Amino acid sequence: MNIQSMLKKAQALQAKMSQVQEELKAKEMIGTAGGGKVKVTMNGAQEVTAISIDPDVVKPDEVDLLEDLVLAAFRDARTKVTKMAEEEMSRVTGGMTELTRLPGLGRKSAQRIAFHLLRTTDGDAKRLAQAILELKSKVTDCEICGNVTETQPCALCADTRRDPSLLCVVEQPMDVLALERTGEFRGRYHVLKGALSPVDGIGPDQLKLTELIRRVKEGDVREVIVATNPTAQGEATALYIARLLQPVERVTVTRIARGVPMGSDLEFSDQVTLARALTGRKEI
Ligand code: ZN
Repeated sequence: MNIQSMLKKAQALQAKMSQVQEELKAKEMIGTAGGGKVKVTMNGAQEVTAISIDPDVVKPDEVDLLEDLVLAAFRDARTKVTKMAEEEMSRVTGGMTELTRLPGLGRKSAQRIAFHLLRTTDGDAKRLAQAILELKSKVTDCEICGNVTETQPCALCADTRRDPSLLCVVEQPMDVLALERTGEFRGRYHVLKGALSPVDGIGPDQLKLTELIRRVKEGDVREVIVATNPTAQGEATALYIARLLQPVERVTVTRIARGVPMGSDLEFSDQVTLARALTGRKEI
């Protein structure tokens, strides 16, 4: 994602949105009640600009009814105005595709974030953009395990208390975090940066497999725990790794047990499920 272009788009969007807000003020909606006998006119800024009441409903003994009708017409007007504002705004924010591209964000959430960002001050927006840029420039891949890190090697690889004979292979850095949360694993990690998926053009060369083989052959690894996701791609990757490491006699390749639901990602598993899956791993 290009942050500079995203910022430019956000600025353009901000300008467009204040223009829309101005236009909305000039637009009016009429809320009705009692079959149109009571009318409330409201502008896009939710200000009541006119009320009209048919003399038919003005009866001294039915004041309660009239009050209810006015209230109903007012609510009707407000509903219409809100809907109009939403439509106008979503027409403008429709171009906010960068946000909807973020994982886990649907159109609605992206729109909510866009609105929030537009309400923040320029200074806040710049600080956020700066933080994203800094994160991108500071964080690199660990030269040993491929995990994201600000230091070289990463804290997990640098920790001498961790068991170098156990190597846990995962698809993504998020999976390392998920497994670390269980507190069950005291070995080392290897991040593949994905899983085999021929349909998407992801073959062995696109993954950190050469690095894995080298680490296993050169180090004193005795067990490789394959903790790829329990998806078709994750399973295929696990089998591929098992076959790849078969010639290395001192190494046992194990697969985490199926405590993890099929078709889901490791990062979304709860700690107990993940811990059980790790303890129940089996040789493959
Ligand atoms: Zn590392």
